[in-house]
Amino acid sequence: SGATTQQILSLGKLVVLTGPSGVGKGTLMQKLLERHPELYYSVSATTRSPRPGEINGQNYYFVDRSQFEKLVAQGEFLEWAEFANNYYGTPRAAVLEKIKSGKLVVLEIELEGARQIRRSYPNALSIFILPPTFLELENRIRGRGQDSEEAIARRLNRAQAEIQAAGEFDIQIVNDDFETALHQIEAILFA
Ligand code: 5GP
Repeated sequence: SGATTQQILSLGKLVVLTGPSGVGKGTLMQKLLERHPELYYSVSATTRSPRPGEINGQNYYFVDRSQFEKLVAQGEFLEWAEFANNYYGTPRAAVLEKIKSGKLVVLEIELEGARQIRRSYPNALSIFILPPTFLELENRIRGRGQDSEEAIARRLNRAQAEIQAAGEFDIQIVNDDFETALHQIEAILFA
């Protein structure tokens, strides 16, 4: 167990998908996993409540705030961030194990976490998903109809600021036509 996180990740098998809430990165990720079962998708921990249909251990590990804070203190996360009043984090051990075994690991995370990964592990490949327009993003966030008006307003505010950060990442992809965006991501992952 002598290898550090840094050394394991320098193998270069980590891909980060980020972008504002509502941009469709979750759907892109789902489709990628369907089409490429050899990819390893890292299931995150969160303090958010499950939405209808979400399954513990499959969509997220649903934990309470004190459990989450304990995991942070124990260094169990590769990255973590607070988003819309909840914590989200990537479990470190599973990701490192999969990278060691030669798998391509993909994370789908928000901006602050993606920045942490970039700072800590410059070998990770980062992809920022952009909406075609801000109006389109607003429609998508509202169209989900699962969040309160207050949560929607928080997400929109944050999304507006986040779009400015696209240039910090290795690659930018506009999710206008879904299939086109998907093929662009595939071209990068399997180049
Ligand atoms: P949602 O609550 O809609 O499932 O996710 C909210 C945001 O948290 C999304 O942008 C999603 O990509 C992000 N997210 C999910 N898991 C993680 C994680 O482990 N770390 C970070 N930093 N963000 C995450």
